[in-house]
Amino acid sequence: MLHRPSPAVRAPIAPVLSRAAFGPRSGAGSSLPALTDLAHTRLVTSGRVALGLALRCAGVENGDTVLIPSWHSLSMLGPVQDRGASARFYRIGQDTAPDLEHARELLDATVKALVVVHYYGFVQDLAPARAFCDAHGLALIEDCAHAFFGQRDGRAIGVTGDYAIGSSMKFFPLYEGGCLASQRHALDGVVLRGAGAGFEGKAMLATLETSFRHGRLPLLRAALRPALALKDALWNAAKARRPQQARALTPDSSDSGFDFDPWWLERRSSLFSRLVLRLASRQRIVSRRRANYLRLEQALNQLPGCRPLYPALPGGACPWQFPLLFDHPEPVFAQLVAQGVPVVRFGRPLAPQVDAALCPHGAAFSERVMALPCHQELSEAELDWIIERVRSAVVPT
Ligand SMILES: *Cc1c(COP(=O)(O)O)cnc(C)c1O
Repeated sequence: MLHRPSPAVRAPIAPVLSRAAFGPRSGAGSSLPALTDLAHTRLVTSGRVALGLALRCAGVENGDTVLIPSWHSLSMLGPVQDRGASARFYRIGQDTAPDLEHARELLDATVKALVVVHYYGFVQDLAPARAFCDAHGLALIEDCAHAFFGQRDGRAIGVTGDYAIGSSMKFFPLYEGGCLASQRHALDGVVLRGAGAGFEGKAMLATLETSFRHGRLPLLRAALRPALALKDALWNAAKARRPQQARALTPDSSDSGFDFDPWWLERRSSLFSRLVLRLASRQRIVSRRRANYLRLEQALNQLPGCRPLYPALPGGACPWQFPLLFDHPEPVFAQLVAQGVPVVRFGRPLAPQVDAALCPHGAAFSERVMALPCHQELSEAELDWIIERVRSAVVPT
């Protein structure tokens, strides 16, 4: 077998916990409105659970239909099915905005809600979608899984929809976390309970261990080494005794699967996640993500065979990742993955009903968009390494 030397740097794909995460509290860099600023919020364990709760709050029931963009994450479909409802897919434009003409063609008496995604943190203009929903008696759900922070034309994310959902894990150094929010409706029907000591412990340890793996928090790692070794030993012993545990301690959403388990609908996010969410510096998240995005854009926007999905980063956007649209993604993708570059393809696969005939842009984006991380915890060296790897994959030397 060919020996592959392990790459010098393997950059974290999502934020990992660092000491810097908690400062500065104010001043440095501007911030943006956050989902948690809305009048009513509930912190749950994933974005998909928040979507399930949003559909329940919106009165989506057995036999109903939910309009979902043709470029979507499969994790958005479980919550719809769990309500006994079905998804119908509407077209998006080249600029990723909803095609409301097509959505109109899909209407019938069963349609109860429209879900709009703010892709990659680029906030959609929701005025047309709001008018559409009002005209047809639909609930508008803002999927802010890529946009925990942001505004457009002076309107904060989440305030236009009846409900908004976020995936805290995508923006904060957390192992689990999602947010249901609403400016328009109280969330009294959403009553959450703790998920147990095993869950609380794992949510914290998994966050710390990921951070240690990427060389962060070295002092804490040294201090915790005996405790973590003991935990591993106990854990393995428990697994040996109970090989078929009825339920994993933490949801599947934390391991980048697409599954949906309704048990988590009633469960609160861990204390650890809620603390990190509260204490992490928002200014730092917003300003570093924007700076990292612009750095990637400047370094990579002239490469042959690809271009940024969005022509410019608006002032109100806090990007999730830096998406590039490739002419022929496969060779580059294979090479980057082999080298340990954290490259992500959103909306892959799509629901089987969606193809280029239904939505040319959605199908093309699913095939051809590859995104690079721009999160706040990337070091200069990691960002340099990512840029260098992408350049040499696109323009072989
Ligand atoms: C990730 C994602 C979700 C689900 O969030 P989880 O926290 O993974 O459950 C929903 N919608 C979109 C657009 C996503 O990218």
